Amino acid sequence: MTPIKDFKQYFNRDHLWMTGPVAVAALLVLLVLVKSCQGIVYLNSNECKIYKLGYPIEEARVLAATLRDAQADSLIARQEHDTLAYPILSERYFILKNFDRYLAFNKKVETGTPLSNIIALVNIGADQDRESYAVPCDTSKGPLMLVNGRHYLDENYKPDSLATFSKSYCYEDQKAQRVVVDAFMAMQKACKEQTDAQLMVNSAYRSYEDQIGTYKRNPKGYAARAGSSEHQTGFAIDVTSRQHPMRWPFDTSEEGVWMREHCHEYGFILRYPKKQSQVFGFAYEPWHLRYVGLETAKRVHDEDITFDEYYAYYLDKETE
Ligand SMILES: [Zn+2]
Repeated sequence: MTPIKDFKQYFNRDHLWMTGPVAVAALLVLLVLVKSCQGIVYLNSNECKIYKLGYPIEEARVLAATLRDAQADSLIARQEHDTLAYPILSERYFILKNFDRYLAFNKKVETGTPLSNIIALVNIGADQDRESYAVPCDTSKGPLMLVNGRHYLDENYKPDSLATFSKSYCYEDQKAQRVVVDAFMAMQKACKEQTDAQLMVNSAYRSYEDQIGTYKRNPKGYAARAGSSEHQTGFAIDVTSRQHPMRWPFDTSEEGVWMREHCHEYGFILRYPKKQSQVFGFAYEPWHLRYVGLETAKRVHDEDITFDEYYAYYLDKETE
C-alpha cells in the first residue's frame, strides 16, 4: 500500500465522492453509540430503577433527585412501590434524614393515620425505642434547650443564676432564670389590665432532687421523671391565678384563656397544648409555660406546633 503523501493528494477528485456518505455514516454510528451509552447509563440510574418499581416517571425523577444515595438504594431494595414515598416529600415538616424512618413507621401505625402525624411523630423520635434513643440535653442552646423523655438533664445540671419571684406572685418562694421572671412580670401586668385577674406562679425551678419527690407525688402522666423535667432548666413555670388557683378551673377562666392566647407575646409557649396531646401522648397542661424567647414563641404559636416539633425541624434538622 502506498502511503498517502498528503491530504491534498487523498482528497483529489477521484476520492471526493466518498467523503460525504462516509462522514454521514460515521456520524450516524457515533450517534447510535452515544445513545446506547446514554441508555446504559439511564438503565443504571436511580430514577430508572425507581421507575421500574411502579412509580410514575415524574415521581421517580423527583425521588431520585431528592434522596441521598443510600436512601434511594434502600427504597429500591424494597422491591415495591410504597405509596407514601412521594407524598411525604411535600409535607410541611419533612426532614430528609428521616425518610427511611417515615416509611418504616407508617407500616407500624394504624391505617389511616394522617401523614402529618407520621411526620411529626418520627421527627420527635416517637418511632424509636425510648431507651436507645435517649440523648443528653444540649444545654448550650440556653432557652431553646429541649428537655423531654428522650432528651434528659443529668443530676448535676443547675442554671447558672436564678432570680426570685416577688412574694406577691407566688404562695411560697419560687425561682427561675432572670429572663423568665421579667417576662412573667410583663405578662401578668397585661393580664391584670385586661382581665382584672392576678396570675400566680405555683411552681418554677425545681432541682433534680426536687423532681424525684414531684414525680412520686403526682398522678401518672402529670409529672416528668427527674432529669426529664423542664422545671430543672429554670425556664418553665406553672401558672394559675389568685382567682382560680386550681389548675382546671383556671383552664377555662377568662385569665386562663387570655394567657394561652397572649403568652407568646412575652416569650412563653404552652408546652403541652390540648390539640397535640392525643397525637404525642402527653397530658394537656394549661398551666405549664416554657420560656423560649419572643421569636421562637411567635413561631411555635403561629405554626401551631409543639416545641418538640419546632426543635426537630428548626434546630436539629441537619444533624445525623
Ligand atoms: Zn410544669
